[in-house]
Amino acid sequence: MSTSNFKNKCVTQVNCIYCDSLLCMRGMKAVLLADTEIELFSTDVPPNRAVDFVASCYSTESCKCKLRDIACLKCGNVVGYHVVLASCLIIRKVQPFHILTEV
Ligand SMILES: [Zn+2]
Ligand SMILES: [Zn+2]
Repeated sequence: MSTSNFKNKCVTQVNCIYCDSLLCMRGMKAVLLADTEIELFSTDVPPNRAVDFVASCYSTESCKCKLRDIACLKCGNVVGYHVVLASCLIIRKVQPFHILTEV
């Protein structure tokens, strides 16, 4: 269980699942820790101009990490989340920005 396999994965551009606008250029395929059935892309680069933060921080049920939803600026739908505060080991291993690829 290391992060090495993460680096081997192809970096790709990620589009909004709702309106198909380009969200980020450096997406890496990942799996959401809490719910492994959700497929998403993670990135270490803030998807500026394409998304904006919505609402306030919240925590997951499984840990005390703080997350914040991000929404597509073009269509307004929530397309992922940003890890504001990573307090557990699992979440520290992944990139700070997560973009959903399926609803
Ligand atoms: Zn959109
Ligand atoms: Zn956590």
